[in-house]
Amino acid sequence: MNLSDVKDAFPILKQLENGQPLVYLDSGATAQTPVSVIDTIARYYREENANVHRGVYGLSERATDAYEGARSKVRRFLNAASDKEIIFVRGTTEAINLVAQTWGRRHLKAGDEVVITEMEHHSNIVPWQLLREELGIKLVVVPMTDDGEIRLADFEACLTSKTQLVSVVHMSNALGTINPVADMVQAAKKVGAKVLLDGAQAVPHMSVDVRALDCDFYAFSGHKLYGPTGIGVLYGKEALLDAMPPYQAGGDMIYSVTFDKTEYNVLPYKFEAGTPNISGAIGLGAAIDFVESIGLDTIAAYEHELLTYATRQLQTIDGLRIIGTAPNKGGVISFIVEGTHPHDMATLMDQDGIALRASHHCAMPVMQHFDVPATLRASFGVYNTHEDIDRLVAAVEEARTMLV
Ligand code: PMP
Repeated sequence: MNLSDVKDAFPILKQLENGQPLVYLDSGATAQTPVSVIDTIARYYREENANVHRGVYGLSERATDAYEGARSKVRRFLNAASDKEIIFVRGTTEAINLVAQTWGRRHLKAGDEVVITEMEHHSNIVPWQLLREELGIKLVVVPMTDDGEIRLADFEACLTSKTQLVSVVHMSNALGTINPVADMVQAAKKVGAKVLLDGAQAVPHMSVDVRALDCDFYAFSGHKLYGPTGIGVLYGKEALLDAMPPYQAGGDMIYSVTFDKTEYNVLPYKFEAGTPNISGAIGLGAAIDFVESIGLDTIAAYEHELLTYATRQLQTIDGLRIIGTAPNKGGVISFIVEGTHPHDMATLMDQDGIALRASHHCAMPVMQHFDVPATLRASFGVYNTHEDIDRLVAAVEEARTMLV
């Protein structure tokens, strides 16, 4: 697919918002869905809908093939070693909670240390706080610089012989910073710690190879990758997943059940209790086809160019301050405009058809670091254009003039 045609693949972007053509700049919250994904989900319900792994009739076998086919696509997409390492979950949040509640509860004890960073999304903070309350583990937070960067030396200084797990974001949703995760994994291995990477923002914007990274767990959400909501992935190394107790219990995650004893199913089914999100997984498979038809490297280069252009243009606005100025960033610009509240700015910009977020972005410690209640955040997807950026800049100027 040619990049100039990409926008046409997204029906929702043809809509008017408040009488203006929609400029969607909130892909960090959720990306829009291309017609190929929408059609795949519709076709599933029209032609293949049945429960998986249960029926011997043709329809159920076709649904099972499609569901397991999506798993294989995810495996290839992440370059995992085996389909057994791909667990379908609701999203990044559930993936991290799964690791905390199964691996964490089994392996961590009072005094053990879990290392996170100051730029984590709440979904990579609160699950560990729950474990801290329950088990008495210690949560160690790597500080970030005023550019919104994690320095490798600061990270290494937080690693000790008590570090059992490092759980860090690959790309920050609040700042756009891309962390040096390959080096972080290597450093963590030296103290014998396991590593979980939160790939919610990274996966739509760059190619990810879990074997090259050598991380133990990798989590992402389908809806940020142009797929449907309610589906996501936990990658885990097979030996680790095998040794973990199940997360939830019910149908499909068992091999045999008596009232005295239950034997669990093999991977990956051990972690997929109950009827899974079948259409979601198949939709996610179609989303992977979509990004691969363009190429993750092409997407990364295009979005980098948009980011550079948008940064330059926004910096021309009086009183505008960009929050998060790390040299290695993905397509996210967080900013504030002196003398205005982000919510007022976003409300006015909505009148111009510009959809961008004003919030703490589920990363309140980041807001605390920069001493702001919230920021405006423009986050890009593959469908955004230079014209979108020009409209964003004009709308920021106009809203600022009205408020200041
Ligand atoms: N981590 C990061 C970095 C995110 O951006 C998000 C979503 N904003 C999440 C985790 C949580 O993802 P989900 O809500 O899809 O579970």
